[in-house]
Amino acid sequence: MAIKRRTAFVVGVAGTALVAGTAVVQAAYTDNMYPTNNYSPTCRDGGQGDTFCQTDNKTLTVYREGSLTSAEKSAISRAVKDYYGPTDLAVKIESRGVYAGGSETDIIYKAKTLARGKIGIAWCDDAVSSRKCDQHHIAFNKNNDGIGPINKSDACHETGHAVGLTHGPEASPAKGLYDDRLGCMSYNDVYGLGANNKENINATY
Ligand SMILES: [Zn+2]
Repeated sequence: MAIKRRTAFVVGVAGTALVAGTAVVQAAYTDNMYPTNNYSPTCRDGGQGDTFCQTDNKTLTVYREGSLTSAEKSAISRAVKDYYGPTDLAVKIESRGVYAGGSETDIIYKAKTLARGKIGIAWCDDAVSSRKCDQHHIAFNKNNDGIGPINKSDACHETGHAVGLTHGPEASPAKGLYDDRLGCMSYNDVYGLGANNKENINATY
């Protein structure tokens, strides 16, 4: 199984105070929906690769910028429809992006030059509360440098961050980075959300 390095955000300093009233999702294998007992920075407008938050509502509108190749656009739309479509989120692929105002497009995907070895990054661009973000941006690396073009699992992974899903070590209880029960949030290529991510999404939205 191919191992890919993904860096979506800079993990905060260990020992960050827990957010009172953190939602507990008991049915799931682990709670990997931000904020968790192991990852709870206040939602803020971040720079590239800075923090992600929950999206601000159940309708998930997405826009794929022209900097992406048609293969990348296709991987994104298939991941969004096939993996997130069956959740309680109502996904919509838009033909244009809204970047300002009160109802911005929820996820903007683009291609950018990122550090070597990174597949993609996700960050909140417009925080609307301590937990919710009106718009996340996702950048995929223009310099594939041996990693290869993004696949449906990569698109699923970064989209997961944009709706609040964390990696295994930030989940509560903490799991491994390569724990495939975290579906496409594993560092392995996993093609699908899996039961845990789906349960956490549906409990939140
Ligand atoms: Zn990630």
